[in-house]
Amino acid sequence: MAGDFGVVSSKIQKDLGIEWAPKEDIVNELMKDMAFRPDPKFLGYWYDHSGEDFDWFIEGADYEVLPTTAANQATDKPNYIRPKCFPALEGYDWKEEYYPYFHGTITTNPNMQWACQAAQDAAAATGNVETMFSTWGEQLIKDESGAIAGIYVHDADGAYTKINCKSVVVTTGDYGNNMEMRRYYIPWADEFVSFYGNSDAAGTICNTGDGHLMCMWAGAKMELGPHAPMTHHMGGALGVDGYLQLNMEGKRFMNEDVPGQNIADQLSRQPLAESAEDREAGVKSWQIFDAKWPEQIKDMPDGHGYVNHYIPADQVDQYPTVLAGFGLGYTTDQMVEEAVTIKADTIDDLISQMGLPADVAKAEIERYNELCHAGLDEDFGKMSKRMFPVENPPFYACKFASAGMLVLCGGINCDLDMHALDTEDKIIPGLYVAGNTMGRRFLVEYPVVVAGISLGTAMSFGRLAGKNAAQGI
Ligand SMILES: Cc1cc2nc3c(=O)[nH]c(=O)nc-3n(C[C@H](O)[C@H](O)[C@H](O)COP(=O)(O)OP(=O)(O)OC[C@H]3O[C@@H](n4cnc5c(N)ncnc54)[C@H](O)[C@@H]3O)c2cc1C
Repeated sequence: MAGDFGVVSSKIQKDLGIEWAPKEDIVNELMKDMAFRPDPKFLGYWYDHSGEDFDWFIEGADYEVLPTTAANQATDKPNYIRPKCFPALEGYDWKEEYYPYFHGTITTNPNMQWACQAAQDAAAATGNVETMFSTWGEQLIKDESGAIAGIYVHDADGAYTKINCKSVVVTTGDYGNNMEMRRYYIPWADEFVSFYGNSDAAGTICNTGDGHLMCMWAGAKMELGPHAPMTHHMGGALGVDGYLQLNMEGKRFMNEDVPGQNIADQLSRQPLAESAEDREAGVKSWQIFDAKWPEQIKDMPDGHGYVNHYIPADQVDQYPTVLAGFGLGYTTDQMVEEAVTIKADTIDDLISQMGLPADVAKAEIERYNELCHAGLDEDFGKMSKRMFPVENPPFYACKFASAGMLVLCGGINCDLDMHALDTEDKIIPGLYVAGNTMGRRFLVEYPVVVAGISLGTAMSFGRLAGKNAAQGI
């Protein structure tokens, strides 16, 4: 499903007129968002190189470029690239935001497979590349000096091959479905059900940390944590828009004006639901809004997971491409009506249908409305322009369950040449890592202030690791 590429200044972006915020602002914000645990040099490298790397990545592919997020496809090409949240929402200024969103990401549609295929075809066209599919790397081989000398791989029938080589780049993804590793490195992420769905030629889930283990068996060191689960909530009928939220005790619990990843952080801390069904489904809160949502959503933040654009019924046929997509920020009355969990004509009925303690929930909604009218959120400090009272029927509520986990970022300690480092921070000659097998990019929290930075960095550092491995750097 992946397709959002957080890349900076690729040719496509320049042609579209997309401008990124300055490097220092983005890198500093990413560092702040991740509690200053990653390595800013890696984030700076991504900012400086990901654009040209993306140009290289898709060279030779056949695709259409949409000029804006809401544009329709003008051709019947199966592959197209769409800028995300572009042009930026009128009035949106990232400098005013508690969690800024940095515009610029582009998305490969329907997913990134064709872009990967283009890169593979280009490699094959050189005549220098042999690709072995349905082949599992199992153990790295080192020589007497401690340098990499090859790798043992096997096929689906269990037949082993020894590959002799001076360098190995390990890019086997994350370890989100290796429960032993998860419980050791990040036990608190136990609550997250994995949404990662790719399986290999043997029908086994792919992201089991094979590469992390191979590297560690060869002497490499896992980076210090806390590792960062990618658990960004995509919200309800109006995405993660900052409307009132009540937990399962009927209480307001946070400044709701935060991105999906951070909503998930707070949901983790909320009490369990009373009903067995909701408890089983991990339901932790309700997002609540009223009939005025069509005029309010333009004031919600722009960015990953938000819904900002209301398309009236008489204009729906003008937006077929964007309305057929997922999580693109455009919606209609019908889409909202179909996606909400509950609709009610009175607050009392809404509370009753949500199954919340009536007195508590009613008092909380009244308090929230009072703060909205005063224009000051004395309880949680939400921006005044996003304080919308819940008072115009009909009323709507959407269930927010605990977010699922896409991947789990945390990897092998490495230097900026992508060498894996050993327990004494020394290079293991010939061993390189990239993507979710590498460390130093994402820690504590997967950041959504730049959408698609996981693919953007995986591609950039993958290319760098490949170049260095080929040249013996
Ligand atoms: C549903 C979903 C949507 C996502 N959307 C986005 C998005 O839009 N933008 C974004 O930035 N991120 C997104 N992500 C996250 C992103 O897809 C990953 O972080 C990224 O793909 C990591 O790249 P990688 O190359 O490190 O690993 P992967 O893409 O996981 O590739 C690792 C490869 O290694 C193979 N492998 C594993 N073990 C072995 C072995 N022993 N031997 C040989 N091969 C092996 C696997 O089969 C797999 O092909 C999404 C994730 C999911 C699950």
